[in-house]
Amino acid sequence: MQTPILDEVRRPTATEGNGMQLALSPSRAADYKNCPLLYRFRSIDRLPEPPSAVATKGTLVHAVLDEVFNAPANLRSPAAAVALVQPAWQTLCEEKPELEQLFASDTEAAEWLSSAKALVMGYFELEDPQRLEPEAREIFLEVELDDTLKLRGYVDRLDVTPAGEIRVVDYKTGAVPSEAFEAKALFQLKFYALMIWKTRGVVPKQLRLVYLRSKQVLDYAPSEQELLNCERLLRSLARAITAAKQSGKFLPRPGRLCSWCPHQQLCPAHGGTPPPYPYDLV
Ligand code: SF4
Repeated sequence: MQTPILDEVRRPTATEGNGMQLALSPSRAADYKNCPLLYRFRSIDRLPEPPSAVATKGTLVHAVLDEVFNAPANLRSPAAAVALVQPAWQTLCEEKPELEQLFASDTEAAEWLSSAKALVMGYFELEDPQRLEPEAREIFLEVELDDTLKLRGYVDRLDVTPAGEIRVVDYKTGAVPSEAFEAKALFQLKFYALMIWKTRGVVPKQLRLVYLRSKQVLDYAPSEQELLNCERLLRSLARAITAAKQSGKFLPRPGRLCSWCPHQQLCPAHGGTPPPYPYDLV
């Protein structure tokens, strides 16, 4: 019998196309919490986003603070760290040549680079890297909670004492947020703490937010109960996202975030039309 020839390629259904297991990072979870449509644009449509000077500065400063710890402890000085900024910027531009287009003039680029150097200098007022030997930096963690949900994300730094106490550290290049926004920053760290608890069986002793611009450090001691609450919240978020994927309904939630949203033109809340949903609905 002759094998039938398929004359069209069927679009995957929402279930097939997205896989059975949902993968959530703190950023994607925050996207859905803030605005389901923004989650769709980023995680399902995977629309490209132009680089921003603010986000790129964050990437640059994180790369430099990571590099600082490659040097022997006694050589980790502010001057040595600042000297790493220019080469790290060149490396970023080689990886993503479009970054060179971020600035309208050389003066603008130079000012931006100086502000990145100031953040790196500021770090030394908050911690003494000569007295720290992190167990890991820029570490990728991934944990399967069950067949339907996987958590993943990059942790800036993990410090572990000889007694096994764990501190999760996150560098922030923005200013210290208001109380409401601080909860969002802590959500990210609790997300990481939950992953560490699941993989190592130890609740991290401390979550540390290092705010480089405001030169402030916020330390927080999470409890087991808080991490259980975080897990419950993530599971319910995952159920909501899975249901939205199957129905194709990702509603816009206009708010303060809209002014920074790179997809405003496609958003119905701002008179736009989203692209067709890429999967057949189930
Ligand atoms: S413009 Fe606002 S409401 Fe629309 S997708 Fe972006 S964040 Fe959501």
